[in-house]
Amino acid sequence: MNEQILTSLSYGLYALGVRGEHYPSACIVNTVFQVTAIPAIIAVSVHHDNYSHACMVKEKKFCISVLSEETPGSVIGALGFHSGKNKNKLTDIKYSLSPSGLPIIEENICCWFECNIINSIETPTHTIFISDITNGSDSSTGVPMTYSYYHEVIKGSAPKNAPTHLQKSEPSQLNQKYICTICGYVYDGDIPFEDLPDDWVCPICSVPKSLFKPC
Ligand code: FE
Repeated sequence: MNEQILTSLSYGLYALGVRGEHYPSACIVNTVFQVTAIPAIIAVSVHHDNYSHACMVKEKKFCISVLSEETPGSVIGALGFHSGKNKNKLTDIKYSLSPSGLPIIEENICCWFECNIINSIETPTHTIFISDITNGSDSSTGVPMTYSYYHEVIKGSAPKNAPTHLQKSEPSQLNQKYICTICGYVYDGDIPFEDLPDDWVCPICSVPKSLFKPC
């Protein structure tokens, strides 16, 4: 089987918030799906190496913020391409705390909900957490960001711990494009990359131009 066929599966993009040891933390996940309606149960897949994974195992609860197409790509960069183990990833991100003290991302999200973990399933790299929804928004606003929108419009890539991460290089294009060596964002704007100002930074992970390479 060609593993590329799995890219035809659809996903959303979500910020998963946890109560960290020293401060609230969050990561980006794309595999949140509803398992049953009554009671409202969801499942989410999280890599063993993620700091959020350890927090979820310890606290048995987490919060999901559903990102919208209006959520800045920099939010995905800050939460998806850095570890919360030794860094407060929420420093530059607007957030509030849920009734259980879990971070809700306040960056044009559609809605949020809190979850209590009731079961889990192990795979070699990820844990699938089965969870009750215990609280959440009264309504949803905006258009939820899909994984394909993130790829095709925001030009983002999958963090290395995402279930959908493929160890493939970005395909070469006839027009010269540049790829961020940190997050995989591909620049193909109208302004030639060389002509971008020196202080231009990656819109996803905020690193300078020097960390881009032709692709
Ligand atoms: Fe980047």
